[in-house]
Amino acid sequence: MKNRFPTFWHMLSILGLFVLFTIPFSSLEGLFPASQKALAMLIAYVFPMILTIWAVNKIYNLRGSANFKVSHLNILPVVIVVAYAFLIVGEFTVEMLPEPSGIFKKLFDTMNDAMASIFESKIIGFLMIAVAAPILEEWLFRGIILKYLLKKISPWKAIIYTALAFGVFHMNPWQFLYATVLGILLGYMYWKTRNLFYPIIIHFVLNGTAFVASQFTDMKANEGISDSFETKQSLYLAVAFSLIIIYAIYLFLEKYFAQSEQKLVLATQNKHKIAEIEKILPENIKLVSMKNIGFKGDLRETGTTLDANARQKMRQIAVPYAVDVLADDTGLEVTALNGAPGVYSARYAGENASYEENLAKLLEEMQGITDRSAQFRTVVALSHGKDELYFSGILKGSIADSPRGTGGFGYDSVFIPEGYTQTFAEMGEIEKNRISHRFLALEKLKKYFEDKII
Ligand code: IMP
Repeated sequence: MKNRFPTFWHMLSILGLFVLFTIPFSSLEGLFPASQKALAMLIAYVFPMILTIWAVNKIYNLRGSANFKVSHLNILPVVIVVAYAFLIVGEFTVEMLPEPSGIFKKLFDTMNDAMASIFESKIIGFLMIAVAAPILEEWLFRGIILKYLLKKISPWKAIIYTALAFGVFHMNPWQFLYATVLGILLGYMYWKTRNLFYPIIIHFVLNGTAFVASQFTDMKANEGISDSFETKQSLYLAVAFSLIIIYAIYLFLEKYFAQSEQKLVLATQNKHKIAEIEKILPENIKLVSMKNIGFKGDLRETGTTLDANARQKMRQIAVPYAVDVLADDTGLEVTALNGAPGVYSARYAGENASYEENLAKLLEEMQGITDRSAQFRTVVALSHGKDELYFSGILKGSIADSPRGTGGFGYDSVFIPEGYTQTFAEMGEIEKNRISHRFLALEKLKKYFEDKII
């Protein structure tokens, strides 16, 4: 589990791949006439980026696509304000760097020249800086690296590591600082929304602003907003004000996201279970089917305990797709049968046995037995960010002499909950979902989300 994508070396290899793919494309530059230099640069950026994203997915066998959906539009103005506040802080950190000299001066000048040639062409410059870079960079850094890091380490660590990688990717000390600072905001918005919409919008707004400023003011490519402040004091004041804004908006967003919805992929193909879980969980927990994220085939279930099975099902989705997952494993434990069928409830009468065959086998085994006490036990496994949690629910009851009722599924028609005379199948779904083993386990999961900012 520890070496799961992305490790430090994976991240380094991603940067390496990008550099590698850039070499052939940038050597094409010579084939373009001087007037087409901007186009050559666009090609030397877009193609290596696309190839890197493709190769990373292939090499590390990543599943599921990047999530892009226009959502949470109501907070757009606030997010744009905070983006500009980050811009000022980011620029300020760059300002703190000493003036470039020696080899750095050379690097600085080369970069300025390159930037200047992109900025010369209005259309290509805009396409590259404000359109291609936001989409491709967010796809790679937030949509791949951060998405998978969030499944391994704590969110803030994941955000900061991704921001640092994003900084390094910019390959010079000025942009390193600036990109790292902005990367924190981009990562935070990805973490909270699990969606590339805000990272791309923020990236677009900031890069677009830089581009427009370079076109319509006499600001040079590598000069920042900080250069337009008359005095150092006014710059310090702007930075202090920006930090206050960032903190205030952070508090607002934390509150806002605490009330917003949590998506969970349900790791089961059992239609009955899906229907029950949907009814038990509150509206702000949205269930997503495995089909919806592109999972085809069957989940393996080869553990010898309910916990092991629930974990196995959860990880088959959570690890390759890097999504939050809920899996449930349930067993009927009959006292007189030493806890059987237990973890083997689904295949009690053999592999691929039907509900009826399992029921018949159970009643046969119970013939003549007077101690009919039993319990249903559910273990719900939850993969939430990098955390794996387990919640169990136990409902005691007894086994009827013969099946009764038409509702429910599995062993419902022979299970009589303690304190009741009807079987689960007789009482109907509303009553069952109010008291069941599954309900008891999911109540704990609900409590977990209520106590935690989602
Ligand atoms: P699973 O391994 O958790 O999918 O479930 C094992 C078997 O337990 C199912 O095939 C059903 O026969 C049975 N089962 C699970 N949940 C229930 C329930 O709520 N009522 C009755 N039978 C259930």
